[in-house]
This record gives sequence, structure tokens and C-alpha cells, in this order.
Amino acid sequence: MKFLVLPEPLELTYRLQKGIKVYGFVQVTSKPYEGESISHYLGRWRRYEVNSLSSSGGLGRFAGIGAVTARWEKFRFYHFPTQKELKAVSKVMEMDLEELIATLPTKDQPMKLEPIRLCAACYSDRPYHRLEWQFKSTAGCDRHKLRLLSKCPSCGERFPVPAKWIEGRCNNCGMKYSSMAKRQKPY
Ligand SMILES: [Zn+2]
Ligand SMILES: [Zn+2]
Repeated sequence: MKFLVLPEPLELTYRLQKGIKVYGFVQVTSKPYEGESISHYLGRWRRYEVNSLSSSGGLGRFAGIGAVTARWEKFRFYHFPTQKELKAVSKVMEMDLEELIATLPTKDQPMKLEPIRLCAACYSDRPYHRLEWQFKSTAGCDRHKLRLLSKCPSCGERFPVPAKWIEGRCNNCGMKYSSMAKRQKPY
């Protein structure tokens, strides 16, 4: 059995709400959240203390498929993940193949590589990047009826790839993602 250390108290709260087994501040596994993008999930997974993979390609190399996971973290799917690659990675991550596939777009879903987009209202509900924000067809957040942000509303800095979202604030001016909702326009 593998024990992972939770990096953020927020995750603990979320897991308790979802009824996922929690052993104090240690839990047994790390599943993707509902609608979580592959980039955000891989970054989060790599930072778990027992995994501690600092390089974005490290996971793929460890799985014996080369550094392709570095491209996945950037939503670069011109070479779409093959079943073999996904199997190898899900095995290393000790997760179900279907769970990993759920963090990916389908092959025919056109994606926006950039800018990385954000519904700050969703983020303030639960702090992670949703895959659907990068769909070309997504114009706004249906839940909040708000347009997505494609840069920091305070200083104009672009958002980094979600794998690097650690503190949930603008790298340049420090504005919290969760407080950007008031700057989103209705849609
Ligand atoms: Zn939203
Ligand atoms: Zn900023």
C-alpha cells in the first residue's frame, strides 16, 4: 500500500466531503478531481512527497515511454497519447486507465494550447484547472455564466501551464486566482 502526503489542507477538506478515506493527514491514493485537466493532475501528482518528480518528462521516462508526459502537461496532443503510453503511465501512477483517460480530451476535441484559461469562480469553489477551459468550443463558464479569463486581470500576465499551479496566484503581481472572479465579465 502506498501512502501519500497531502500538500494542501484544501485537498483534505475536499476529500472528506467526497467521503474518500483519509488517515489523518495521510491518504492512500491521489485520484483526479472531476473534470481536472491532465496538466493540473500530472503537476499535482509529481509534487506529492513520495513521488517527488521535479521534471515534467520524468514520469514518462520512468514509465519507459520517453518524455512525452512533458508534452501532455502543455496540452500538446498532435501526437495523441496512445493506449500503450497511457497504460504505462497509469501503471506507474497506480491508477485506473479510465481515470487517466478522463483527464484528457477526446481525439477529435479541438484544444486551445494557449492562452491557459481560468474561471476564477470555479477555482474559488475548488482550486484546480478544468480540462474544458481549454476546449476551443468553450466560450465561458456555464455554471457561473462568466467569461473565462485568459490573463491576470490586474497586471495582464498570462497564466502558466496548470501543472505549475501551486499557490494559485499570479506569478507576476501575486493576485490570487480565487479573487479574480469579480473581474470576470458576464457571458
Ligand atoms: Zn465557473
Ligand atoms: Zn498579475
